[in-house]
Amino acid sequence: VKKKAAAYEKQVNPVKKAAVLGAGIMGGGVAYQSASKGTPIMMKDINEEALQLGLKEANKLLGGQLKRKRITAAQMAETLGRIRPTLSYGDFKDVELTVEAVVENAKVKASVLAELEDQVADDAIIASNTSTISINSLAKNLKRPENFCGMHFFNPVHRMPLVEVIRGEKSSETAIAATVTYAKQMGKTPIVVNDCPGFLVNRILFPYFGGFIGLVEQGADFRRVDKVMEKFGWPMGPAYLLDVVGLDTAVHANEVMAEGFPDRMKREGKTVLNAMYDAGRLGQKNATGFYKYE
Ligand code: NAD
Repeated sequence: VKKKAAAYEKQVNPVKKAAVLGAGIMGGGVAYQSASKGTPIMMKDINEEALQLGLKEANKLLGGQLKRKRITAAQMAETLGRIRPTLSYGDFKDVELTVEAVVENAKVKASVLAELEDQVADDAIIASNTSTISINSLAKNLKRPENFCGMHFFNPVHRMPLVEVIRGEKSSETAIAATVTYAKQMGKTPIVVNDCPGFLVNRILFPYFGGFIGLVEQGADFRRVDKVMEKFGWPMGPAYLLDVVGLDTAVHANEVMAEGFPDRMKREGKTVLNAMYDAGRLGQKNATGFYKYE
């Protein structure tokens, strides 16, 4: 797969102007990563508060680097200057590649993608950062499905090297090549995978979360499970990881996985995960999930 990705890089020019829809955990991370590796990016959200949060995160990460003297104040300002927050599609006409990173909800994504398609140039690439929703199903509502593919980053974007580039049935080689190239511009390691529920990583990760939830429902202490998995050698346990991912994202993703693999993933009734989500415990994003955060 890596060999293929390297071959793609030769076919297209680097992306000169990018955009991201959604300034949440992922959108903010994508904006920061793109800007810090030199590619200007517009960051669009539907509310000002979210935009400010996205910028705050970039400021925090750059501030840390400044403190450690890895960058100068001028470099920090230059990087921040490459992120253009916006509430409108005003300057999207010359955006070459847009990463869609709005909430993990198929209906919302379908309408946002259709809206975006009307705002960008005919040859602009649109790549969805969906964790689990089928790229083929999202492509169905598009006029130019050949310009569409998946670009799945992992959280936190600035630290996780892997990016899954998801090839839908109608994705053109140009769309895949541009997305692979952009991932490499961002200093990431892209792999090209075919479309299926959960793609590669979440197809492994969500059954693992399911195993963990089952244990908790049978009375296991989530803190102890986390410690065991850390002893096993993983950097963090499943409860902490779910808090990082966001319980809302995990619940939506789990539904998609259950639909895609009912034999392995379907559960009757509500799970602990649903109960936590219903109670508004969303994880680190609102400081309360399995754990409490300052
Ligand atoms: P989030 O809730 O932190 O952010 C979503 C943002 O989208 C919010 O700021 C919201 O205001 C904005 N939004 C909603 N509708 C919009 C619209 N019409 N136009 C522009 N912005 C809009 O969610 P997140 O965790 O950043 O997840 C975003 C996407 O990335 C989801 O598809 C998710 O599955 C995927 N993803 C998440 C993770 C993770 O660990 N959180 C990892 C990989 C991929």
